[in-house]
Amino acid sequence: MTTQSQGLHTHVLDTLGLEISSGQCPPGSVLRTDELAQRFDVSRTVIREVIRVLESMHLVESRRRVGVTVRPTETWNVYDPQVIRWRLAGADRPRQLRSLTVLRSAIEPVAAGLAARNATAEQCAELTERALGMVATSRGQQLEGYLEHDIAFHRIVLNASGNEMFARLGDVVAEVLAGRTQTRRPPSGSPRRSRSAPCTNWTSSPRRGVPEAYGGPRSIFAKRGSRESTVMAQQVQAVIAPGKNEPVRVETIVIPDPGPGEAVVKIQACGVCHTDLHYKQGGINDEFPFLLGHEAAGVVESVGEGVTDVAPGDFVILNWRAVCGQCRACLRGRPWYCFDTHNAQQKMALLDGTELSPALGIGAFAEKTLVASGQCTKVDPEVAPEVAGLLGCGVMAGIGAAINTGQVGRGDSVAVIGCGGVGDAAIAGSRLAGAAKIIAVDIDDRKLETAKKMGATHTVNSRTATAPTSSSRPSAARRPTNRPSTPVTSPERSSSSASPPPT
Ligand SMILES: [Zn+2]
Ligand SMILES: [Zn+2]
Repeated sequence: MTTQSQGLHTHVLDTLGLEISSGQCPPGSVLRTDELAQRFDVSRTVIREVIRVLESMHLVESRRRVGVTVRPTETWNVYDPQVIRWRLAGADRPRQLRSLTVLRSAIEPVAAGLAARNATAEQCAELTERALGMVATSRGQQLEGYLEHDIAFHRIVLNASGNEMFARLGDVVAEVLAGRTQTRRPPSGSPRRSRSAPCTNWTSSPRRGVPEAYGGPRSIFAKRGSRESTVMAQQVQAVIAPGKNEPVRVETIVIPDPGPGEAVVKIQACGVCHTDLHYKQGGINDEFPFLLGHEAAGVVESVGEGVTDVAPGDFVILNWRAVCGQCRACLRGRPWYCFDTHNAQQKMALLDGTELSPALGIGAFAEKTLVASGQCTKVDPEVAPEVAGLLGCGVMAGIGAAINTGQVGRGDSVAVIGCGGVGDAAIAGSRLAGAAKIIAVDIDDRKLETAKKMGATHTVNSRTATAPTSSSRPSAARRPTNRPSTPVTSPERSSSSASPPPT
């Protein structure tokens, strides 16, 4: 086919595909080659080729004497990416979106669970890299860049599941994600709960009790780990940022046995936070290589001498630093002013002995990590790890901003600008504190919907809203709030007023 006839072919195919999938050309309609050739001003050969493609999608069938008829919708190959694209582009869009959402919600969690067990080291690294890419592009509304990472992320999860039928759905998911972006919706955050939250969930294990965080040559490490954990350092896999802006990779690292006051924690879930991206970009300091991840939940595996606050088997979330419990501030019941917060004394390292800098003193993109035992906070073991882990960064940052930094009190009016993960937590914190009026401000209507569920009483889309003094604005926005907006900055920054800067 020449380039020109290919172009004609595509134009005719798209036009007919759209007409059929939108119902403009309903089932039972007859398509006549002559008429179509005349209508599109193309040869009958082009029309016949187009018909063959439509037949392969089960949209039409050719029958002797009757001609080419549009088939009933039940027979269409609804998994064909092109059919999905046409349905998304036409009147059938709402129904198609609903179907795809239900399909994805049925398949993706299972695929992610399988991927957690089966993914290779390369796939784990690539997943982290893509998640960080989504974090990087979610600010500033870089729709195309975000979409590229989002599609790649989903493809890797489906491929890494090891189920070839799930893997084939990569194109289907790509169409949904692309279709969404083409309607100019801002990125909704990322896999699952992300919605442009600062922390994208990086669930390593689908359920509590799965022995190792994620795949690769897991069995080898699991065996070695269990044999050696009581006698010497153990080796696990972890995501490392080797140098400034270099792609992250999965490496085998050495975790020392816990010394006095230390604990080794088996990680079950860890969010991907903007701060991890900052580390990778060299924005925090130059102490590469970093062991990324700091918003995590897991189970204590072993503890060192003198540790009484946690014991092996405890389900915990991880804090950036442990408070000393003995200084003047701690004794006054103000541990957030502790003079002597600390992390584990010993260092985790690469196999060649290079010491690692764990992000925020945690380093939880790993099967296991070494922390000061005081960095472990026991939580209800009934809570799913991917939920509990969020308490470690995004949730406490938002709630802390409202309750501690903003000192929101009963009956107050509060405005929260930016309703991602931290903003939503600030809304929830304001509600906990008894605020009467909580105004959520964002440029994404979907986030504003979520904000309402978190406790916002009013919402303002600052992209479409006119000046807040306008009489058309809701009453809440017309009156000034009685205290300044709760500052919602990056989690680590917003907590810095109350605790020493993270390492
Ligand atoms: Zn964080
Ligand atoms: Zn202290």
